[in-house]
This record gives sequence, structure tokens and C-alpha cells, in this order.
Amino acid sequence: MTTGPAIYFDGLTSARHDVTVEATPEVLRIRAADGAEIAEWRYQDLRHQSAPDHVLRLGRTGDTVLARLEVHDPTLAHTIDEHADTLDRTGAAERRVRTRVIVWSFAAAVSLVLVGIFGLPALADRIAPLVPLSVEHKFGLAVDAQVRSMLNPGSSKGPFECGLAAVEKPGRAALDNLVKRMETAAGLPIPLKVAVVRRADANAIALPGGHIYVFQGLINRTRSADELAGVIAHEIGHVANRDGTRSVLQAAGLSFLFGVLLGDFTGGGVVVIAARSVMQKAYSREVETAADRYGVRLMGKIGGDVRAFGSILGRIAGGEPGISILQNHPLTKDRIAAVNAAAGDAPAPAQPLLTPAEWADLKQICG
Ligand SMILES: [Zn+2]
Repeated sequence: MTTGPAIYFDGLTSARHDVTVEATPEVLRIRAADGAEIAEWRYQDLRHQSAPDHVLRLGRTGDTVLARLEVHDPTLAHTIDEHADTLDRTGAAERRVRTRVIVWSFAAAVSLVLVGIFGLPALADRIAPLVPLSVEHKFGLAVDAQVRSMLNPGSSKGPFECGLAAVEKPGRAALDNLVKRMETAAGLPIPLKVAVVRRADANAIALPGGHIYVFQGLINRTRSADELAGVIAHEIGHVANRDGTRSVLQAAGLSFLFGVLLGDFTGGGVVVIAARSVMQKAYSREVETAADRYGVRLMGKIGGDVRAFGSILGRIAGGEPGISILQNHPLTKDRIAAVNAAAGDAPAPAQPLLTPAEWADLKQICG
């Protein structure tokens, strides 16, 4: 490890901070004069900024507050150069950024014109089906990383995602079994990635690219495997109908598409906007109704209890304490009635989707 002095700007104020930088083989650790850790930067995120010859000036890719670090110490600068293979001091990266800014500005102008002509929701409706699935997949990965970091409360109880520890693995296996059957029946053009995450609220969300998050709070509140499957089936409906992608198009406009063309979502604000829109935006009643219908059909296909979803919706509508499931989804009596009507008079299946043992394991997926 090499240690040396540097100057740090936090990007929020103009104050210079004299700091000590530790260049370990893994990360760059920035410490205040009193030894307190200010930040830890990964080498792969470092971006070189233009500076006088004897100064190494660094920022981070995708950093929204624009913090920067100035290193005058030649030994420290050399060590950082050694560790950061991607750090480019020739200026090529800067030229690429400049080109990108020009293209993005152009994209913004074009999108404004198109939005003016069609209106954003209508435009998003037209464009969403045209977004190639490979792009949605790639975009989904970027949004997934962002949403994980936004949702993660940093609990000390274990990793954010459940089902990884040895005691949680049987639960994960039970969930995989359930999801596999649903996925096969759904015949989606993109693979599903269903994760259970350690959050107390009873909710589930679907992101672009087939990512579905089921919150621990929902697992706790569901009374049967079929109820849980009903909620997941509804979320699969959002995936199949590409509601997440349409919602992102509405929130981020065409800059999303130009992110696609430029092949880069990681550096842009689009991912942040997208993540917020997926987590906060309520879908319209029409969109929810379509996902409900899809979910009921899918439950029928796998031989599940088509009324289970209606019963958990009913408990939410009845105000069972602690349930805020699908809080970002408008909930009306009409919707429950529609779900029950769609279920028709199909007889209740002879057995639940999971065996009692599997269901007990799944209830324990978060330990
Ligand atoms: Zn929904």
C-alpha cells in the first residue's frame, strides 16, 4: 500500500480538504486529517480530468456530485496509475465524453420536438414495443444495480438478497421451483430474475429486463404459496407487457433510447431516473388491470388457485395492518372484482403449488 497527501473537493462546497490517500491494491481510500475515512473509490470508476502536468486530477464515472481528488505526490500518482488500468491520461476518454455530450444534446432536442408532436405518454406507448429485447436486458442490468443500491437499507442482518446463506438455500430452491413453472408457462422472450430482498414492507416490483423483486415483508404476509405466486404472476404480467420499459420511456424520454445507441447507461442519469420511476411511479388503472388479467391467466396455466391473488388484494383493501403491498399500484374495489370475475367459477385446485414442506422452506428464505 502506498500512502500520500492529496487535496479533496467534495463536489458540494468549494472547500479544499487536505487528505491522506491510501492506494491499496483493491481501492483508493481517502482519509481526513484526523484519520476519519471520507470515501473509498474503486479503481475501475476513476476518471482522469485534465490538469497541469505535475498534477493527477481524478473524478469518478457516474458521480453525480462531482467530487474530485488532486494528487501532487509523484509516488502516489504512479501507484494509482499502476492500479487503475482503465485510467486514461492521454485525453481520449475526454474526447469521447465531449462527443457524447454533443450527441446527447442533439438527442434532447429531437426528443423535445417529438414529445411536442405526440405527447410523452403516447410516444412512449409507440416506442416501448420497438425497444429490442437485448437492449431492455442490458438496460435492466444497469437499473437493477441502481435499484438495489436505492432499496438496500444497509441492514446488519445479512446480505440484501435473501436465499444465499446455507439455511436459506432450501427456501431459494422452493422459490426457484415455483418461478421455473411460471416462467415456462409464461413463455417470456427474456429470462426472469426473481430475487427476494430484505425489506420489511410487503411489496413486489418488476423492473425492465425481467428483474422482479419480492420483499421479505410480502413473504411474511402471504398465507399460501398460491397467494405469493399470484403476486409474482401479476409482476410477470408487467414484464410481459413491458410496463417497466414504457414507464422509463415516459420518465427519461428519448434520452433512454440515445443511451441505447451510445451503448452506455452506466454513466448517465437515465438509470437513476429509471430506477426512481419504477419504484415510485404508480401505473395507471388500465396497466394494472392488464397485469391482473395476465396474472390470473398464468395462475390458471400452472394449475394454481386463481382466486389467491384476489384474496390477498382483498386483505390489503380491507386494511390489514402492515400490508402496503403494491402500494404504488392503485387499488380499487373494481380491480378486486375484476380479478375475481376473471377467475370465473374455476374449481379450487386439489393441492397448493408447493408442498407444505416447500412452503415452510420458502417462508424461511430470509433466515
Ligand atoms: Zn402492478
